[in-house]
Amino acid sequence: MRHIQHSQSENYDGYDYDSDNSDASMGSDLSDNAEIDFGILFDVDGVLARGSTPLDPAKRAMEKLKDAEGNLKVPVAFVTNACNRSADKARQIGNWFDINVPPEQVIHAPTPAKLLRQFHDQHTLVIGQEHRLDIAKDLGFSNVCTIEDIKEAYPLLDMVDHNNRVRVATEGYTENPNFPKVDVILLIGEPRRWETDLQLIIDLLLTEGKPNLVPSDPRSVPQLPIIACNMDLVFMAEACMPRFGHGAFLLCLETLYQKISGRPLSYQNLVGKPCEITYRFAEHTVAKIARQMGFRKPLKRLYFFGDNPSVDIVGANLYDRYIKNKDPNGNEYELPFSRLIPQCAELHEQTVETCYSMLVGTGVYKHRSSDEDQETTPTSKASVYHGHRDIAHEEDLSKPHKYVHDVNEGIEYILKRESVV
Ligand SMILES: [Mg+2]
Repeated sequence: MRHIQHSQSENYDGYDYDSDNSDASMGSDLSDNAEIDFGILFDVDGVLARGSTPLDPAKRAMEKLKDAEGNLKVPVAFVTNACNRSADKARQIGNWFDINVPPEQVIHAPTPAKLLRQFHDQHTLVIGQEHRLDIAKDLGFSNVCTIEDIKEAYPLLDMVDHNNRVRVATEGYTENPNFPKVDVILLIGEPRRWETDLQLIIDLLLTEGKPNLVPSDPRSVPQLPIIACNMDLVFMAEACMPRFGHGAFLLCLETLYQKISGRPLSYQNLVGKPCEITYRFAEHTVAKIARQMGFRKPLKRLYFFGDNPSVDIVGANLYDRYIKNKDPNGNEYELPFSRLIPQCAELHEQTVETCYSMLVGTGVYKHRSSDEDQETTPTSKASVYHGHRDIAHEEDLSKPHKYVHDVNEGIEYILKRESVV
């Protein structure tokens, strides 16, 4: 078995990376319905599949985790920054591996916005593409509108669309001054035509959600709350070069807003990997599943499999820092405003003590054989930082607790470590 051997002297002091934990008292196997106190989280693309094709190691891994009826024997959740309807993704994963996956087991980038209950009844502009209103309603947002609704209510706003300029000039227009004030903006994913959305979102931000009224002092207008889901700047698809992700749209919005208003854009909440709220929601989800499976012990360990060091691994390591409440200098760990986790009565108690980041080499991250000999981090020091503005760049955060070639090797490692083989 080839893997990076991290020495205990590295920055992750206190972790027992390669211990087999073979003397653990649990000492039973999965088929005995062992009293399991750990959960496993999987990123999907690059870990379990590439595009719509499941990976062979993932099939072998799932064979180890499922029973004859296709029920998983360990509490598991799937955590992806993609943006689909959870029921569709759950069906796809279920079909790939012949397992039963309820939609609640799939966490997309926007899913933790379910916790932002104070906004669910407010008039919400939802930005994204297909299924965006279905997704927003699934999250609990009950009073939603789209950029097309804003454009129709205020036909003079969109002058970046030259066809609209001609239409207004030749056919006239009717404004709807009774269109309700927008209270909150929910950015689910990048829209289709960025220029229109950028213009109209900034109009709403500068006017407290009523863009037909010019404020007497624009500098004194409080900014509308913005919830942004998925900060990935780029992603890998079939093209040979990475493609723009939602983070690229956010960067444009932040830059334009600051240039125009003179103030930095402030986010009410950032949601999706690598933000702590997503991992907290994932812990809640696997804890709930563990309880449904009949396990009584609180979960103590989470294993997070990801292929992207700067998203999956950074997030798992940030969550580990959050639950240990310690920053790298040993001080109390304080989250910035945009990454605060709301206290919700419906969340299962936070009991996990360690979140292990498991990096696989079947997706974004390409393992170099030189890494075997040198204790190098997966990201080169010379690499450009693609993370979001509200997540400080720290090279060590993209370093996994353990590298495995594929998820099957990782599952073997965990089952052995947890003495459930
Ligand atoms: Mg991935």
